[in-house]
Amino acid sequence: MGKASETESTSCFLYRRIVIKVGTNVLTAGTDRLDLEVMAGLVGQIARMHERGLEIILVSSGAIAAGRHQLSRTRKVQGIPRKQVLAAVGQSRLMQAWDQLFSWHGITVAQTLLSRGDVDDRVHYLNARNTLLALLEIRAIPIVNENDVVAIDEIRGARFGDNDYLSALVANLVDADLLVMLTDTGGLFTADPGRDPEAVLIPFVERIDSTVEAMAGGSRSGRGTGGMATKIKAARLASTSGVAAIIAPGKNNGVLLEIIDGARVGTFFAPATSRLEGRKRWMLSGLGRKGEIVVDSGAAAALREQGRSLLSAGVTQVNGSFERGDIVAVLDGDGHPLAYGIANYSAADLSTIKGRRSEQIAQLLSSGYGPEVIHRNNLVLAE
Ligand code: GLU
Repeated sequence: MGKASETESTSCFLYRRIVIKVGTNVLTAGTDRLDLEVMAGLVGQIARMHERGLEIILVSSGAIAAGRHQLSRTRKVQGIPRKQVLAAVGQSRLMQAWDQLFSWHGITVAQTLLSRGDVDDRVHYLNARNTLLALLEIRAIPIVNENDVVAIDEIRGARFGDNDYLSALVANLVDADLLVMLTDTGGLFTADPGRDPEAVLIPFVERIDSTVEAMAGGSRSGRGTGGMATKIKAARLASTSGVAAIIAPGKNNGVLLEIIDGARVGTFFAPATSRLEGRKRWMLSGLGRKGEIVVDSGAAAALREQGRSLLSAGVTQVNGSFERGDIVAVLDGDGHPLAYGIANYSAADLSTIKGRRSEQIAQLLSSGYGPEVIHRNNLVLAE
């Protein structure tokens, strides 16, 4: 942990792609239903950010709370699927509210429900990433929540568990610059401010160590699933992926605009590494010995000097057996590593299309995944 310094500047020039997580307590303002005024306040701010050209992904809780409110007069749902039933009813109401509020600003939103398996499974990971990036490209705002209907508490490891963690995974998935977790507490305090009047806000955390974790304690708040401890866990995941994180007070109207204008609000967690480094490390850790793609000198130059995607025409050789979604090494003609990336095609498919022009892929394969063998978004250059 360090003192506030110049490095904590939060200028919008630093942050182009931002994941904003809003919890149930903020969205309901502590009541038992969605608070449309609070939601409209957030939407107004996000619309301004969107107008300035920023890319926003919203991770929104509130489905279970909305479902519970909607079903409060019907017979109580019992047993294990209770939360799933509430979430199924509430998710559509939640999206309806967001959709309507954003439509007043002419902004399209896109519901994105993710399950744990979607980030653990390599093909799902790639599909989720590609879809989210494509949505950002068309200037839509993805609104993400856990797919509670298929995620059951009772099966260990089947859920993300809380949207704090999910938001950090999403930030990592899309290479966000910043993760903002809006909460009703307003930041990390030296002790639980609800219980200890002496508790003071910590504005800047350089590294999440045991002292920081101890301050977060195991506190849970109100109707939400998370608490400060889950937010610290999420901030740590963001930080090690090279994503800066801020825990900020969701109750302050205007907080998001203050953040992108560089004001010091809440607690800022510095990234422990650069995003590129984080991504490279992630790629290298998943590399295993799945496979290699050897490319000709034209493709090597396009990758190295022009930041282009790898196309089938430049591929000369395919080594190993890998599936679509696996991480592979890209080698030059001398066998030196040029880059690492997520393969869009399996080794078998790639052997069929190697050296061929992109237009021929559709004739050669029954299912084509586009012209890129490795998309530039999914590729990092080797040293
Ligand atoms: N997915 C849950 C919901 O929409 C919220 C989980 C959380 O708040 O962490 O109600």
